[in-house]
Amino acid sequence: MPTPEHHTAIIIGGGPAGLPLAVVLGGWQPHYKETQLFRDRYTQIHEFLNSVEGSLLGVDFRSLVHAGISPADLFRLLHHPSRKFHSLDEIGMSFRKGKTLDVLLITQEEVGGLWNNVPENMPTLSPGRMMEFAFYPLARHAQEKDLSLDVNDLIIKRNLVDYYHTVPERFEIQDRIHTGERVNRVEPHDLGFLISSQDVVTETKHSYTCKYLIYAVGQRCILRSLGVPGEDLPFITNHYDNSLDFPGERVLVVGGGRSADWAAIELHDAGKEVHYVMRQSPEHHWRLISDSRHGLPYYARIADIIESGSSRFITHYNTKVSKFDDLDGGGLVTYMRDRQEDRIEVDHVLLLIGGIADYSLFKGFPDLPLLEKFDNYRFQVHQLPVHPHSYESTTIPNL
Ligand SMILES: Cc1cc2nc3c(=O)[nH]c(=O)nc-3n(C[C@H](O)[C@H](O)[C@H](O)COP(=O)(O)OP(=O)(O)OC[C@H]3O[C@@H](n4cnc5c(N)ncnc54)[C@H](O)[C@@H]3O)c2cc1C
Repeated sequence: MPTPEHHTAIIIGGGPAGLPLAVVLGGWQPHYKETQLFRDRYTQIHEFLNSVEGSLLGVDFRSLVHAGISPADLFRLLHHPSRKFHSLDEIGMSFRKGKTLDVLLITQEEVGGLWNNVPENMPTLSPGRMMEFAFYPLARHAQEKDLSLDVNDLIIKRNLVDYYHTVPERFEIQDRIHTGERVNRVEPHDLGFLISSQDVVTETKHSYTCKYLIYAVGQRCILRSLGVPGEDLPFITNHYDNSLDFPGERVLVVGGGRSADWAAIELHDAGKEVHYVMRQSPEHHWRLISDSRHGLPYYARIADIIESGSSRFITHYNTKVSKFDDLDGGGLVTYMRDRQEDRIEVDHVLLLIGGIADYSLFKGFPDLPLLEKFDNYRFQVHQLPVHPHSYESTTIPNL
């Protein structure tokens, strides 16, 4: 076997988490920039940061955590010192090219992660400025590309993904990024980690070693399935881009989260009869809708559709699909509610029930314990326990 290619650090996953790390480790380091807003609002932190020499990566994060401030909170405050973006001058950091680390980013899609695949017209849940990287504010991107973007507003997928795609060239890190390459295995090695990967198209195999590994694969490595008979029949899909991909009249959407809500609304507004099957109760779903309807236009829309009692939007709460059967030109869905079985004929089924991170790539390490993390509405992600000052795994050093 040829000697694996060695890098000091390897990042797996080029989404909004992994991509900016490639830029920062590639040399673009943050330095504290004094602003009146930050100084007046966070005087103590200002005094602390003013005493830091050189890059903010040299801050004693352990002491900072002891003082009750997590690194993520510190950088968030510097990046977004006020609730709305007013001008580039208010960002409390400047990024300067400094020492570069030998870093490689490996990702199976284009950079930008899951945003490459969300529905074409879908807006973010957060304002555009919350989706940007501090070293390249969206406002600067808009200036440079002569775009009209309100960064305090939601941003649609197309604009966001264009922004992410601009980053490698803009920060001259293209040579440090391998797209279209999937990592299959991570093992212990004398030098740290041994990584085996494969080109998605040509299936050419590669192997690397690295001292530090950043595992930024996101939460959609393995799409969840219902585990019921017939789930792989051709009228069922777990990808929604556009209502035009769904000819016919009747679509059944299984889900209950934001992706399923978006698809159900868009299909309804395109004239389809939508059957929306959810395990959750109406109260649970309605809590998300009413909390979101005043900030997010598509939640205002779903609230309107449900309140208007549209005959083409049929919600099935507390309901579980139990099987799918093939019919000529469509399918039959069997579902259960209150121990009562029912059936419906449909043209398409959309399974939008989320995904999970894949930790099964790690072989030969101690078992990774996983913590469940919930938001106000539901289970969100499995997280690895990490040191609070460094986000390094407490189980596997240098991960
Ligand atoms: C519909 C939707 C809307 C959302 N809206 C918002 C929002 O408005 N605001 C917000 O903050 N968050 C939002 N999120 C959360 C979203 O998860 C984050 O915005 C962000 O995409 C997470 O970034 P990430 O880099 O962790 O993961 P991802 O974006 O998932 O990127 C991970 C990348 O790693 C790649 N990868 C995975 N496994 C491997 C492997 N073995 N080898 C190589 N590459 C691999 C993946 O293919 C992917 O390209 C939304 C999520 C969804 C699904």
